[in-house]
Amino acid sequence: MMSLALLLRSTLPENMNKANSVKISNLKVGVSRASGRGKAVCRTTSTNEDSYTTSVEYEGRGPSTKVLVTCSCPDHLYRWEVALTHKGGSKIMHSNGERPIKTNPSMRPGCCGHVFKLITELQKLKKI
Ligand SMILES: [Zn+2]
Repeated sequence: MMSLALLLRSTLPENMNKANSVKISNLKVGVSRASGRGKAVCRTTSTNEDSYTTSVEYEGRGPSTKVLVTCSCPDHLYRWEVALTHKGGSKIMHSNGERPIKTNPSMRPGCCGHVFKLITELQKLKKI
């Protein structure tokens, strides 16, 4: 897992701005049967009407929260999944696991607007 503080600190302003137009539906918050950790899964919809499945697994609360995130959108697939996986913050689920040579050559951590929106929602619900 990865520190939530690090993920938020390294997320690009463009992704934070995109999160403003993301809508969340079918939010389910509970406990992962596989890991025993808190888990939230939802559908996220952007202004372009495309919708994705976004999830955040979490442990702890406040500044020490650790997270594991994923999203079915292209931004997560092509830019963040491999970089986050190297930091323990995601798992290879949507990409082929190759380094994002063009989209994120320095492998900096960060997250898409959908994951950012879901994290914001979980903070509002005081889950993390
Ligand atoms: Zn996404």
